[in-house]
Amino acid sequence: MNQKQFESRVRQTIKKYNLLKKSDKVLVAVSGGKDSMTVLYLLKKFGYNVSALHINLEMGKWSEMHLQNIKQFCKELKVPLHVYSVRKEFGRSMCSIKSIVKSRTKLQDCTICGILRRWLINKKARELGMNKLVTGHNLDDASQTILMNYFKGNLFIGLNEGPYVGIIQDKKFVQRVKPLYFIPEKEVEKYSRLMKFPVIYERCPCVVGAYRHEIRGMLDDIEKENKNIKANIVMSFMRILPELREKAEKIKPLYCKTCGEPGRNEICRACSIMQYIK
Ligand code: AMP
Ligand code: ZN
Repeated sequence: MNQKQFESRVRQTIKKYNLLKKSDKVLVAVSGGKDSMTVLYLLKKFGYNVSALHINLEMGKWSEMHLQNIKQFCKELKVPLHVYSVRKEFGRSMCSIKSIVKSRTKLQDCTICGILRRWLINKKARELGMNKLVTGHNLDDASQTILMNYFKGNLFIGLNEGPYVGIIQDKKFVQRVKPLYFIPEKEVEKYSRLMKFPVIYERCPCVVGAYRHEIRGMLDDIEKENKNIKANIVMSFMRILPELREKAEKIKPLYCKTCGEPGRNEICRACSIMQYIK
């Protein structure tokens, strides 16, 4: 895929699934990785009304370098940037939160970080008055998640898959969209390197040993023989997703008794984690 083809694939996804309108207030959640930096650049280039949000995980040098890159990139692109720190929001660095929570639960590093990030990002996006929240999820992320859900024997936890998330329609949930959803990770990396984006290409140091990592390796191995495997997994899941959602749409969102944020339980997953770090 060349530069033009890459850009037009992203445009097509936005158009086909009606992900964004020019009148939307779009907030891009940027980690500083290639995916979120690429999507930020493209949405600005396509003329959307974009701002960026970054959660500083306070993981030492790693976080400092990402923050520096994001600040520089947003300045170049003339995109307003909102930064929130986990130390300010939750009272501790992400490493410290994880080590406490892991000693008391069976939750994995990425799960803990993901739950708290999603909770904070949705809350801040809503408070900032945004109506669309963009993430950098790509085809590899999607195929891994779908397969992990199959292996757990629970396809319903895949309801957040698809280029737009809309299981529970609620005024407290900001609509999440994923313009890179059908693009293979290596194509995103190729584009990001070609464009010389200020990006660190190493994976998060905490991802080592994670279950997702094993699934990634397995899919990459099979892909050598069957180059469509990731797209096949995602496209076949996309075909049954509307029916899964139809069943789930009957679920009414509950507001967490502790924090008031929307979720599926009386106490949301973020608060059930936060109880250990108070
Ligand atoms: P991950 O769960 O690490 O695969 O990240 C998925 C998406 O969440 C990324 O593509 C970003 O859009 C967003 N994201 C991840 N980490 C952060 C962060 N520290 N701050 C803001 N957004 C993030
Ligand atoms: Zn809560």
